[in-house]
Amino acid sequence: MKVFKFGGASVKNSNAIKNVGEIVKKFSSSQLLIIVSAMGKTTNALEQIVSLGQNAKDFKEELGAIKTYHNQTVAELGLTKTLLPTELDKVYTQLAYDAERIGNFDEIYDQVVAQGEVLSSLILSHYLQSIGIETEWIDARKYIVTDDTWREGKVNWEKTKQAAQHLTTVLSNKKIVTQGFIGATEAGKTTTLGREGSDYSAAIFASCLQAKSVTIWKDVPGVMSADPKRIPTATVFEELPYQEAAEMTYYGASVIHPKTIKPLANAKIPLLVKNFDNPSLPGTRIHECKVESLPPLIVFKENQCLISCKVTDYTFISEEQIGIIFQALMHHNVRINVMQNSAISFSFCVDFRDTKIMNLIHELGNHFEVYYNTNLTLITIKNYDAASYNEYRSQPGLLLEQSSRSTLQVLLKI
Ligand code: ASP
Repeated sequence: MKVFKFGGASVKNSNAIKNVGEIVKKFSSSQLLIIVSAMGKTTNALEQIVSLGQNAKDFKEELGAIKTYHNQTVAELGLTKTLLPTELDKVYTQLAYDAERIGNFDEIYDQVVAQGEVLSSLILSHYLQSIGIETEWIDARKYIVTDDTWREGKVNWEKTKQAAQHLTTVLSNKKIVTQGFIGATEAGKTTTLGREGSDYSAAIFASCLQAKSVTIWKDVPGVMSADPKRIPTATVFEELPYQEAAEMTYYGASVIHPKTIKPLANAKIPLLVKNFDNPSLPGTRIHECKVESLPPLIVFKENQCLISCKVTDYTFISEEQIGIIFQALMHHNVRINVMQNSAISFSFCVDFRDTKIMNLIHELGNHFEVYYNTNLTLITIKNYDAASYNEYRSQPGLLLEQSSRSTLQVLLKI
């Protein structure tokens, strides 16, 4: 069996969903488990509803926009006379109810935000059925078992594997349509796997069912050496070793979710990244291979914050002080993107997430003189050559640079 994953852009409207139908038809003889993200920007809209609901504010307008968006798609796909509108209505009612509930914000977030994938998967499943593809909609929450780390559920692999075995019988005569991004605790409470986590769901199902491959269908022709919107000369990689792909995601390449590679590499399942507008393009194959020389790979990460902790008593930065900094990072669940130290200060760069980072800075302020800059861009050049090395080191607004034998990172105020 194979796993296909379609992201939000590939189901963003009725035409996109029809295109998914065309792709799935081409694989009519394959056993397929199809994972889908929420349509377009629905997850962001649902996040807004949770914030409003939890602040006792009215979200009628926002919910109305979500309903119109989905219902219009249903109408354009000719599905108004099926059971689908009633099924969607139940989801709208449930999410409105949850958004207003009193309780733990993150737990409620998961109950509400997960519904984006429930809506899109119901629509896709009914649509595929309507064009003659035998389909079964399944609820991923019955299969992906996680702990109760709300918004970042940790997978219980043992339990998930056990539950997934039931799907092999279904797959022998039907295509399965299910949701990315969501799971549930053993007690049945909905959890999410972290933003953009649908790729990870594909890897989880694939690994538990020993799939032949996973294909992520995207709006780009494959994994590229840079974002073509920034660097038009960017090229597509034909193939990449797992390790290389994993490192790219670590540095912020958003083409694949960072947690996706590990389960696939462990189970030796190839990951294909293909273009949904042009499925005949070869795309990129990530698998166990050796690639002699790769072109420089350039990753831009915006909205970075550089934090410098300076010792205040004329001593030098010591292991003890670095320990304090890392404890604070762990406490606030913040990951460092690049770090550097001098005799009297320790500097590091992190994604700027307003309240979280301000709380971290506040805590560090109890021990150090803390300085910070926001609105920075971190550029990572992996496998740099002489030309790219010189080009990126001479960019204006350079605040920090660091290089190893294969990777150059520059932090810029641009
Ligand atoms: N819908 C979720 C998000 O936007 C998950 C995903 O698309 O992968 O983060």
